[in-house]
Amino acid sequence: MNEVIGMNLREIQEGQSACVVTVGGSGALRQHFLDMGIIPDTEIKVVQYAPMGDPVEICLHGYELTLRLDDAEKIEVAPVSAAARRSAGRQEPAGEHLGLGEGGRFHAKGSGDPLPDGTLLTFALVGNQNSGKTTLFNQLTGARQHVGNFPGVTVDRKDGPILGHRNTSVTDLPGIYSMSPYSSEELVSRDFVLHDKPRGIINIVDVTNIERNLYLTMQLLEMGTPVVVALNMMDELTGNGGSVDVNTMENMLGVPVVPISAAKNQGVQELVDHAIHVAKFQERPQRQDFCSETEHNGAVHRCLHAVIHLIEDHARAAGIPVRFAACKAIEGDQLIIDQLGLEENEKETLEHITLQMERERGLDRSAAIADMRFSFIMKVCDACVRKPGESREHTRSRKLDRVLTGKYTGIPVFIAVMGLVFYLTFNVIGAGLQGLLETGIEALTGIVDRALASAGVNAALHGLIIDGVFAGVGSVLSFLPIIVTMFLFLSLLEDSGYIARVAFVMDKLLRKLGLSGRSIVPLLIGFGCTVPAVMATRTLPSQRDRRMTILLTPFMSCTAKLPIYAFFVDAFFPRHKALIMIGLYLLSMLIGVLIALLYKKTLFKGEAVPFVMELPNYRLPSVRSTLQLLWEKSRDFLQRAFSVILIATIVVWFLQSFNFRFDLTGDPQESILASVSGLFAPLFSPLGLGDWRIVTSLISGFMAKESVVSVLEVLFGAQGGVAAVMSSLSAFSLLVFSLLYTPCVAAVASVRRELGRRWALYVVVWQCAVAWIAALLVRLIGLAAGAL
Ligand code: GDP
Ligand code: MG
Repeated sequence: MNEVIGMNLREIQEGQSACVVTVGGSGALRQHFLDMGIIPDTEIKVVQYAPMGDPVEICLHGYELTLRLDDAEKIEVAPVSAAARRSAGRQEPAGEHLGLGEGGRFHAKGSGDPLPDGTLLTFALVGNQNSGKTTLFNQLTGARQHVGNFPGVTVDRKDGPILGHRNTSVTDLPGIYSMSPYSSEELVSRDFVLHDKPRGIINIVDVTNIERNLYLTMQLLEMGTPVVVALNMMDELTGNGGSVDVNTMENMLGVPVVPISAAKNQGVQELVDHAIHVAKFQERPQRQDFCSETEHNGAVHRCLHAVIHLIEDHARAAGIPVRFAACKAIEGDQLIIDQLGLEENEKETLEHITLQMERERGLDRSAAIADMRFSFIMKVCDACVRKPGESREHTRSRKLDRVLTGKYTGIPVFIAVMGLVFYLTFNVIGAGLQGLLETGIEALTGIVDRALASAGVNAALHGLIIDGVFAGVGSVLSFLPIIVTMFLFLSLLEDSGYIARVAFVMDKLLRKLGLSGRSIVPLLIGFGCTVPAVMATRTLPSQRDRRMTILLTPFMSCTAKLPIYAFFVDAFFPRHKALIMIGLYLLSMLIGVLIALLYKKTLFKGEAVPFVMELPNYRLPSVRSTLQLLWEKSRDFLQRAFSVILIATIVVWFLQSFNFRFDLTGDPQESILASVSGLFAPLFSPLGLGDWRIVTSLISGFMAKESVVSVLEVLFGAQGGVAAVMSSLSAFSLLVFSLLYTPCVAAVASVRRELGRRWALYVVVWQCAVAWIAALLVRLIGLAAGAL
């Protein structure tokens, strides 16, 4: 094998295959590679390089992954040899098996010592990403869901009782590939299983991708918690002529296996019955031992069992499943080793045993364990799974990808798709609904207004209701149609599998800014509206990426600022309209890029989460899940509209309508807001914007950017008035300032929801500071140029 040393995956051409020799790198990332199935002797095919040349899409065990070139470089490969691991699964037709339900044949305890009636049966829904967890969760719980966060992190947590079963609760966990957590979401899932100790685990397995999905199953079985395996996407497998011998699989895994189709609601009832049974009777997996006594001289087997005996008492004392702890200890998982509290000589023994195994096995510890698991999976798949040739869905995905991620078509298609989404959201559907809603709100306001007037309600209360509550909440509510429409498209794109492709196509670009490809979507939505943009960052895989992306979205100039630009460009630069508009957008993006580079060096040092991502087959999203998501997002937004935003609106209304003697005043110049603006005016003088009326309008822009223009019109009366008090240079400063200063209260409220109060405050102050500096620079440059 010596002649091939030095060749790495990066050197393989598109369409060529190679065989993994070693996996380089270290720590969590390397473990992640191994867990994703990149282990020695695996055959890998390079499918394509992204349009910008990085990352690369590879295919192994019949599924597609993307890797960055830097990471691909660490994987040493050789030409495909006879020894290469075949993709498992028989191709020849096997015996008939219908595979729906075994009537409890595989339950060890049909009766005897169940948990007492009335015990809450808690279930965790665990599985790979895109395996159909959320679809199944929606089927299990219907609309009775509770949405919240996991403590300490903004990772969506959904719980709900199983329909028709009181005293049950299922939790939808973030998708994970293995119990060696990689991102903060994965840590959440592992901690939930380890520490919240659900009564049972529903392990959802994508049967079209069974090798990789079973890897997690192996680890769940080691935990000793009662498990039911749900083989999802059976409709796709059988539709292509494949099948699974469920009985044999149950025998080999030692747990009930139920074939289902979550999207078609087939087999779900069966699954529920089994899940409740294993939890009620606390039936633990009957098999936890997957190491072979004979393969490779039983090196891994002997090592594992020696370590199990070594740490047994410690694991029990620490409340960690023994077998799981042993694997982790061998892999060198420091977190687990610390929790075990081994003595010094025990640690030495552990190291000796492991070294001995590495020598005998010829693989390092992590690879050896991963290899042991995959070997077992191959055996299971060989015995139980009859795979179709290439499935229709996969062929279709491959064809679609030729265009959607193609070298010359990938980026144009992406731009076109986003363009269409924007057009439909902001010009057609969303805007239409918005018009409708606004008309409705106006009509309602009119009715209430007249009713209040005829009832002779006092003027202050009348003003509060009409100008404060109705006007404020009404203007915020009018965002709702846009948000709902935007999320409709987003969820369609996400669930169909396109967003993963976008991340693949755009990764190289975004990586230069210290982000990963996935951030491009929220950032683009920011050009529409910051609120859904911030909400869309939920799907980003790491806390760091999410935070950084949220802090960058305000630099994407939202559509609500357009009226401001139009107003001033009309008044001051009527002959250079388009030029100035485009210039403003370019300027905000340029500043956004500079800030991103600054963040990368300071607040957010380090790399974006390495990009080992699955490219799932394109699938038709389920209507039910989509509606569920829209409902959640709207509810989320409405709750905010009626809390934070309502209060803010009332405060601003109050400042605007009262003078310091707390009398209602009709003259804006006398209002508290005018006095406050007067206080701020000196701050704006260096920008050439010292007029209190301009400051007032900017402050009101905090409510909604649209109101900047309406306040200006009230205070100055049409464009001419403004033109009289400002030079064109000041107008330009103002444009730059409004381009960058604090996002509106609705956007700040979303930031607060995602990142907390401190970051929300940070956004307000920081954006104002950046805007002020930029506007000042514009003015200084302008003055200098004028003086020449
Ligand atoms: P999650 O990432 O695990 O939460 O997966 P989702 O529930 O979002 O499902 C991913 C995609 O698979 C969606 O487009 C679903 O509509 C689709 N899907 C889920 N279950 C099935 C199934 O049983 N059959 C088919 N054909 N598609 C499914
Ligand atoms: Mg999900």
